[in-house]
Amino acid sequence: MSFYFVRTPRLVQRLFTKVTWRVEHSNAIYLTFDDGPNPEVTLPLLDLLRENNVQATFFLIGKNAEQYPAIVQRILEDNHSIGFHCNEHVNARKLKPIALLKNFRLPANFPTTKLFRPPYGKLKLWQYNYLKRKFPLIGWTIMPGDFDKNKSFESQLKDLKSAQSGDIVVLHELPHTLELLKAYFQQTEIKMFGKL
Ligand SMILES: [Zn+2]
Repeated sequence: MSFYFVRTPRLVQRLFTKVTWRVEHSNAIYLTFDDGPNPEVTLPLLDLLRENNVQATFFLIGKNAEQYPAIVQRILEDNHSIGFHCNEHVNARKLKPIALLKNFRLPANFPTTKLFRPPYGKLKLWQYNYLKRKFPLIGWTIMPGDFDKNKSFESQLKDLKSAQSGDIVVLHELPHTLELLKAYFQQTEIKMFGKL
């Protein structure tokens, strides 16, 4: 298991000022879902968001979006935001420049978007400098660790519930995340959710 912060430290936020870490002057919480679309999770996830009257942001993988255009369409019809999460889910630090540029190019049929989040949130400095001119880069303040098999459900839920006004929360399109979100919507007092 690699190390990650549940709450992104202020120091990291201050170092990378071109990354949007949180939404200032907002009362809403911004749920974001990475790595979709996939039929197993995206469709029930959209139903769950609709039942709870929640708007969210989906950071889609280019290749998956090409494979499931009808699901992408449904995300748009439900009035959520779509961001780009590269064509393939690889750590950008491991790519050579040409492969990297290809991976960062929006596929032809991808919905128009100004939002970009690199896989694993990882970039080399020159990549950050290159990308910040091309896209608004979207980070996060809260990572409950829905992907982390070593972290208990209760602990993930507790960290998800720690999200406050203006926080951007990163979740993933995993079957497990549906269960986490169901529990969260049942227990949270928060009613305001926004999309980026
Ligand atoms: Zn990802």
